[in-house]
Amino acid sequence: MIFMLLESWRYPEELKSLYLLKKRQERSKEKRPINELAKELDDISFCYAVLDRVSRSFAAVIRQLPEELRDSVCLFYLVLRGLDSIEDDTKTAIEVRAELLRTFHLKHNDPNWSVSGIGDSNDYRLLLENYQLVISAFQKLPLDHQKIILSTCDQMGAGMCKYLDREVNQIDEYDEYCGYVAGLVGIGLSQLFSSSGLENSAVGRNEELSNSMGLFLQKTNIIRDYHEDLLAERTFWPREIWGQYSSTLSELKGLKDGRSTQCLNHLITDALQHGGDCLTYLKSIKNPMVFRFCAIPQVMAIATLAEVFSNDEVFRKNVKIRKGLAAKLIFQANTYQEVQKIFEKFSIDIFKKIPKNDPNSYLTASYLRRLVNKQSKIKEIDLFSKERSMLEKHAMAS
Ligand code: MG
Repeated sequence: MIFMLLESWRYPEELKSLYLLKKRQERSKEKRPINELAKELDDISFCYAVLDRVSRSFAAVIRQLPEELRDSVCLFYLVLRGLDSIEDDTKTAIEVRAELLRTFHLKHNDPNWSVSGIGDSNDYRLLLENYQLVISAFQKLPLDHQKIILSTCDQMGAGMCKYLDREVNQIDEYDEYCGYVAGLVGIGLSQLFSSSGLENSAVGRNEELSNSMGLFLQKTNIIRDYHEDLLAERTFWPREIWGQYSSTLSELKGLKDGRSTQCLNHLITDALQHGGDCLTYLKSIKNPMVFRFCAIPQVMAIATLAEVFSNDEVFRKNVKIRKGLAAKLIFQANTYQEVQKIFEKFSIDIFKKIPKNDPNSYLTASYLRRLVNKQSKIKEIDLFSKERSMLEKHAMAS
């Protein structure tokens, strides 16, 4: 806590948001061990208590959702958390994980099912060990919600299996993998929003926009987690991109000639292409609480991309935005106009950091331009893009 305060001491608004957020979190935090909770709480209370434990960022926004959606989204989160912790548990044999991933959706028909000793953290293991309570709460959800959740779980499990023993090489595969683990979440959530009647049916039908919402978040995490994933001997950066700058992925962190920064910025540019879709999606959301639920992760993502852009620290440690900044964004992302402003601010921050000699600078600037409000006074990005395109035409002609 002291570190968080020190980090934000120059930003009074962040300190205030940190204080408010801490107060809110303390009120909801259940401190007893998960196994004890499983014995004492009913199924749905257990699910919310575990949600607080396994999801630092989502628990609060899920609790604020309208009643028609709250339990379904809480269960959706826990089901996918269960699936993901099976995928990530590299200590368990691949065959065991593959079988579980393939059949996980079917377990939700068996009210007594649980599994011991699987999960890549203690909390995740305990979630799976007491999974019968998740299933019992799941079976009480509206049937159309159950169907959406299980269909997502089925497709995601199959997708995870496909990539369990192979690396992400081509950009197509990178998009496909991110689509399985995050795009499907966006699609499933949109279907839940429409099915609950809180959003119109077009939201649930537009799979492309929902997929982009997931890809923007997932790619941001993958970029930020370079160091952590390398230590855990996992890689999600696509070879088709990093191979242009280095002969191995781990070599990137030692390069002193700017190639690693170019590689990093290349990946960030690839993620930024989804930003425009995210704004379009958010503009279509009517319910204020559904809006906040969708917008908060997206503003965190654009802030993270601004933090990691041209930032070589990514190769040495896990770079994160200040907790105070995160807290401030949580309280700011209430309306489309506010979110648009946040996207604009961080887009301009990134724009200002584009190195002159960056091979992707034109593309980076053109994606950023889509995130800046047309009526805005800032014309810099337009000018920059025009200048670049003229230079490139000139280079091609000569
Ligand atoms: Mg995973």
